[in-house]
Amino acid sequence: MSCIFCKIIDKEIPSDTLFEDENFVAFHDINPKAPVHILVIPKKHYQSFQDMPSDLMAKMTTFIQRLSLKLGVDKSGYRLITNIGENGGQEVPHIHFHLLGGAKLKWEHFTDADPKNMF
Ligand code: 5GP
Ligand code: ZN
Repeated sequence: MSCIFCKIIDKEIPSDTLFEDENFVAFHDINPKAPVHILVIPKKHYQSFQDMPSDLMAKMTTFIQRLSLKLGVDKSGYRLITNIGENGGQEVPHIHFHLLGGAKLKWEHFTDADPKNMF
């Protein structure tokens, strides 16, 4: 059984897609956390960044840079996030980058654990 983002790629589930090429799709997050909140995924299924081949990641870099131009956030700035696994808070097990922008983003605390007790 394919994952929810594979179903979006196969158009079994509708999505608000704004940009795609042979390797990647960019679509609006269903629950946006900023005025611009786009998800970027490879068409091939990889569980997370941890499994992503570096040559495909290099192509994804170019794809996201072009997407930022298309969205008009290349100059104003934006944030890229990829959540990895349980502690990373990943809910959908198909690697995706969140591209967030369109307003000055906050930088909240990420954990109740004391950062000074880490490492
Ligand atoms: P994660 O927590 O895995 O990093 O983020 C998953 C993201 O996928 C969430 O921001 C959530 O709103 C989004 N999402 C989950 N299901 C769907 C869907 O069916 N369509 C779209 N467009 N976004 C989804
Ligand atoms: Zn998938």
